[in-house]
Amino acid sequence: MFDRLVGNQRAKDTLRRMLVGRRVPGALLFAGEDAIGKKLFALELAKARNCLAPAGVEACDKCSSCVRITHFADAPADRSDDAKHIIWSEHRDVGLVRAEKNIIKVDQARELERETNFRPHEGRARIFIIEEADRLNPQASNALLKALEEIAPTSHLILLTARPANLLTTIRSRCQTIRFAPLTAEEIENYLVRNKRRAGEEARLAAHISRGRLGLALSLNLDAYREGREAMLSILDALTAVQADRVRLLRAAEDLGDAKRKDDFEPRLDVLETLIRDAWLLSLDPATKIVNEDIRDRLTRLGAKLKSGHAADWMARIQELRGQLAVNINRRVATDALLLSMASR
Ligand SMILES: [Zn+2]
Repeated sequence: MFDRLVGNQRAKDTLRRMLVGRRVPGALLFAGEDAIGKKLFALELAKARNCLAPAGVEACDKCSSCVRITHFADAPADRSDDAKHIIWSEHRDVGLVRAEKNIIKVDQARELERETNFRPHEGRARIFIIEEADRLNPQASNALLKALEEIAPTSHLILLTARPANLLTTIRSRCQTIRFAPLTAEEIENYLVRNKRRAGEEARLAAHISRGRLGLALSLNLDAYREGREAMLSILDALTAVQADRVRLLRAAEDLGDAKRKDDFEPRLDVLETLIRDAWLLSLDPATKIVNEDIRDRLTRLGAKLKSGHAADWMARIQELRGQLAVNINRRVATDALLLSMASR
């Protein structure tokens, strides 16, 4: 049932209306940021179309059809020939296609073209989900266009993407688009608590730092987050000391720019920016809502030490560095430059 899913009430209403009116289109495009539930909504639609004991137009979540649709045999990543194939759920009418090495290839799109022509094996409809549909390469896009033109009335293709603009216009125009929004921190916190995935302060912190992405809130390693945050807080301590502590800053820059920590670099910049914003907001309004609620007192003290204009300037410099990351810069040198320029303000 759609009510089991968190947030995106408008998407729920639209999908329910389609089911009630028996007008589920052959091609749907679910557009919205990563990890906010697009795939869960697609699977819910697949269940609703094939449920053996539906409640109205919605899936029961209990029958063998509903249960099998949520079980996918994940193809092992090291077998390149699997990339050609559809990954099937335990229900023979529900499958998904996923990019391998960041590309969805023409063989995968051709297989979709073939399979969407068949009548359902056991259910009422065949559903094919394309994850990260913006990763279709040009030949695959053309093959998919053919599939969209010839799709059987009992088949549905659901394209998921966080970057709809990267799809061919001709593909977009053949799909009915449903937009998905990030969830609110409250929606995520309630979900985590209700489903006993996290409790109390942990749930609140995960809800705030995941910025609307439930998938992220579930998979976050909060201990690692806190460790990274501690390092970024020490940078802020050094920056806001009466005399900016350059030795400490250079040591922090060395740690942040460390090549071994390549994957941590951008997340840590994000954390640094969030901490600056939190401290700044607290300096303007001590009762305001912040991301790092669990260290509110510490951030209030930091905020009190911020000089006028510094926070905005620092955030702009971090943004600038992030822009440079797109081109291949030396992170270590760039980080030194960033922290020293922040200290010189
Ligand atoms: Zn069912």
